[in-house]
Amino acid sequence: MLDLETAQKQVLEICERLTPQAYPLADALGCVLAEKQIAQFEVPHFDNTAMDGFALRAEDTKNPPTTLKIAGTILAGDKPTSLPSVNSSKMSNNLKSNSKIDKLKNGATENDSIKHATTNYAMKIMTGAPIPKGADAIIEVEKTKEDETGFVEIAEEVKEGNYIRRAGENISKGQVIISKGKILTPAMLGVLASQSIYEVSVFPKCRVGVVSTGSELMEGSKNLPAGKIFDSNRHILLSLIEKAGMEPVDLGIINDKESAILKAVEKASKFCNALITSGGVSMGDFDFVKKVLTQNKGSAIQVAIKPSKPLAFGRFDNMVIFGLPGNPVSALVSFELFARPGLRKMSGFKMLERPRFDAVAAADFKREPDGKTHFARVKWKWKNGTYKVKPVEMQGSHQLQGLAEANGLAIIEDGNGVTTGEAIKLICLD
Ligand code: AMP
Ligand code: MG
Repeated sequence: MLDLETAQKQVLEICERLTPQAYPLADALGCVLAEKQIAQFEVPHFDNTAMDGFALRAEDTKNPPTTLKIAGTILAGDKPTSLPSVNSSKMSNNLKSNSKIDKLKNGATENDSIKHATTNYAMKIMTGAPIPKGADAIIEVEKTKEDETGFVEIAEEVKEGNYIRRAGENISKGQVIISKGKILTPAMLGVLASQSIYEVSVFPKCRVGVVSTGSELMEGSKNLPAGKIFDSNRHILLSLIEKAGMEPVDLGIINDKESAILKAVEKASKFCNALITSGGVSMGDFDFVKKVLTQNKGSAIQVAIKPSKPLAFGRFDNMVIFGLPGNPVSALVSFELFARPGLRKMSGFKMLERPRFDAVAAADFKREPDGKTHFARVKWKWKNGTYKVKPVEMQGSHQLQGLAEANGLAIIEDGNGVTTGEAIKLICLD
């Protein structure tokens, strides 16, 4: 019997990284980037305002309160424009107004300027719009008072650079925006799109076929003939694969027949990177998955864990096969401990296992020494800054209902178990 670590190492040895492929952004979430990505554009692309407000010259606000003539409005998406200079008295005629509001307000005349005894200008500006040439600060609209005649009053002195987002302050051209090996997150996809990159080279998601083996298995019938059961494992495994960010392929149920199993393996090897079977890897006379795998240079091992002691694995052409045990709880635990890390390795991930958390036992976990590490199905709660862990009632490896109530696995090392209040290791399955 192999210890868990040795068994995991053996399984990982047959799992090779897949060749990188170009994925459209829409499919790349959660994939591992195979090539670093370089910025083609600086971001922001141009100096722009972080606030709705007025673009002005900071210098003009030195002696507050200041009244400035509104020279127009700049919207996000407008072409860069210029803030008229102090002496440009024909400003209001020259400027092209951008909005209906401007058309009303730019009716302000030279007399208005005289009234306010100023010829300094500001331009109304909306968040994201380009800073007009000549302006060097933004005052947010909340701190201004606009009058009916096209002037704006600013109560305080504005600092140069206020609320200006400078071109390139976020990303500069030529910089590495995402390095190789990163797992693509929604924000990273946003960064790529901000660079007009819509296709990236990633380690592909494994395409994983799932087969349930067992002559007792049925599906979709209202009646259950004596001796038969409905297939659960395929549905567990297909969704575990999906949740792991891989691509599941449902390959149905097959009987405990050597030729049928071989045929399914051959078929899957034509279009899958991996095949996961359940059932048929134990000591029974009809456990043909084990036989087919060992006859094709695969291995059948016994691992010092409970549940899910037996495991078969191997390669068939370029496809990796994980032969998991048939009891539903065992199939899930085996998937978590062997198949999921293997698939993650193939898809380019560096961290293969789920993280293990330090938790506290909120009940007794009784067991006896048997040379195995036990994986108890548990319910965990985050309470007062720690994970509190309780076993679910049904701990049999065939008791799927107990598994469905659990949201984690607790690792109970060989020995006499863990008592309430003691430290315990937790694997969260949510
Ligand atoms: P095996 O590993 O083939 O010896 O199966 C062990 C136990 O798991 C038997 O009681 C099987 O009937 C049961 N089992 C096997 N495959 C499935 C499945 N796909 N869904 C539900 N139970 C299964
Ligand atoms: Mg069976």
